Amino acid sequence: MLYAPGSGVIAPERRAVAMEPQLYAVFATFSGLLGLCVGSFLNVAICRLPEDESLGGRSHCTSCGKEILARDLIPVLSQLLLRSRCRFCGARFSYRYMAIELITGLVFLGLFFYCGPGRPVLLVALWICFASLIALFVIDWQTTLIPHPLWIAILVAGVGYDIYGLAVGAHEMMVLFPVTTAGGQFAVALPRSVIGALVGLIGLRVFVFLADLAFRKETMGFGDIYLTGAAGAFLGPGIELVLYIVIAAFAGALIGGTWMLWHRKEREDTVIPFGPFLAVSLAVMILWGDVIANAVRGYLFPPPPV
Ligand SMILES: [Zn+2]
Repeated sequence: MLYAPGSGVIAPERRAVAMEPQLYAVFATFSGLLGLCVGSFLNVAICRLPEDESLGGRSHCTSCGKEILARDLIPVLSQLLLRSRCRFCGARFSYRYMAIELITGLVFLGLFFYCGPGRPVLLVALWICFASLIALFVIDWQTTLIPHPLWIAILVAGVGYDIYGLAVGAHEMMVLFPVTTAGGQFAVALPRSVIGALVGLIGLRVFVFLADLAFRKETMGFGDIYLTGAAGAFLGPGIELVLYIVIAAFAGALIGGTWMLWHRKEREDTVIPFGPFLAVSLAVMILWGDVIANAVRGYLFPPPPV
């Protein structure tokens, strides 16, 4: 069975790769284990990025300040063995650390199944993108900030994958402003991911400017705008990019509104971060954007009856 994902910049290409089941299992196991380790790193990033701390250097117990031993840093396993407590002072660590490691492991494994063994470059690009989205989800939820390294990583992964596609002939440049004159035809051609990023960035900036005017308050932060630029690198400048915003806005209004009613937060200054909704929406659109976009196209522009 082969599944060829094809959404936005991810060109649909089918490459039949015959792989021994044993080797497939080895790669799948490696993907899951790599995800656990990356999840462990994401825990560090989630703590340190909002504080502008360096990502290098060993972690310390927040309670007693002792350095955490190398053998206590094995993802999931260490936390299970130590029952989520510090080896020295017994302070309780949040189960969130283990949850993020497990989620990242499952996401990495799922992306391996999604891409299959024949598209290693796409797989790495999606690993970088989804790992950044997991960290972005948690950080924005807690601090309403989106640190720059996260959207930059997504942008670089999206543009990088597109340029790789151009290099191997799987992707095509997008032609803008074709002009035919007596001297011949002139046009500007750029990689689809670059145009997508520019459209996402400028489009949302203009939209936010108008929304701020209409609501007379800040509706969206700059982090959301940068993230949408990075999303454009993966989704391209078409309907997928619009749907990504629409899905996030609907989910945000629905879940955010329910949450505010539930907690009876009626104060004007309650801030519900938009980034987590954008992050989930981007993940959905990268994986199933082609299916969703086709369904919407069919609904909006039904084929004429014959
Ligand atoms: Zn301690």
